[in-house]
Amino acid sequence: MSTQSLPGDDRYSRQIRFQGVGSGGQELISAGHVLVVGCGGLGTGLVNLLARSGVGRITVVDRDTVELSNLQRQTLFEEADALAATPKAVAAAEACARINSGVSVVPIVVDVTSANVESLVAGVDLVLDATDNLQTRYLLNDACVKLGIPWIYGGAVSSTGMSLTVLPGETACLRCLSPTMPASGTTDTCATVGVLASAVAIISALQWTEAIKLLIGDRDHLNRTMVYLDVWTNDFQRGEPLTPDPDCPCCGHRRFDFLAAAATDAAQDEG
Ligand SMILES: [Zn+2]
Repeated sequence: MSTQSLPGDDRYSRQIRFQGVGSGGQELISAGHVLVVGCGGLGTGLVNLLARSGVGRITVVDRDTVELSNLQRQTLFEEADALAATPKAVAAAEACARINSGVSVVPIVVDVTSANVESLVAGVDLVLDATDNLQTRYLLNDACVKLGIPWIYGGAVSSTGMSLTVLPGETACLRCLSPTMPASGTTDTCATVGVLASAVAIISALQWTEAIKLLIGDRDHLNRTMVYLDVWTNDFQRGEPLTPDPDCPCCGHRRFDFLAAAATDAAQDEG
């Protein structure tokens, strides 16, 4: 995608003026390559903010097509996308091309499996989790810990949301917190209990902010614990910083069970 220079383009001036970013930070943001896995509520929120803030390369992976029930919270999509059943990753890339011609958004319409996750993750600066299924999250955790790439967990369901930044070797990984994956059907999903757009919006905004800190290299202000919030009850919680568990099968013993498992048809539901 070619970079259009617009007359008097001061597109990033307010972001650059923020002391945490500055012009040096903006250059690092522009040079960044971020992978967004899932393009539902969290994914569209993330891709929207990443494109507007000038992240130079954004790869977005999702296998699904846009449906009318997505439009309540999936902010890059419109009715025409649902009527045409456009793949979500493609619709997101098309929307971003209208928002910011100076960034490249590459859509990949595929299911993330043990067979392809490492090649998707390899070479990016960081990975944003915008799925709402645990199978894909455990796969991302394995791939990112193995390759030493930071990833940012995000989840939203009902009126609640959670986020955690995983810095391999520095902070707890997903398997430090939960060594075995909960069985499918034991956790609430957006399809069963619904989800509020505000919970999705807040979590994606927190994830974007962590991504920008990582691209800039401001590691002092990263979130090293699980953040939990409920927009309906106004409950906002943040735990103590989490350190890696030396007995963790993944980051402790470097056993990547989910990468080693055969590729399965993991449901990649929208958040
Ligand atoms: Zn771990």
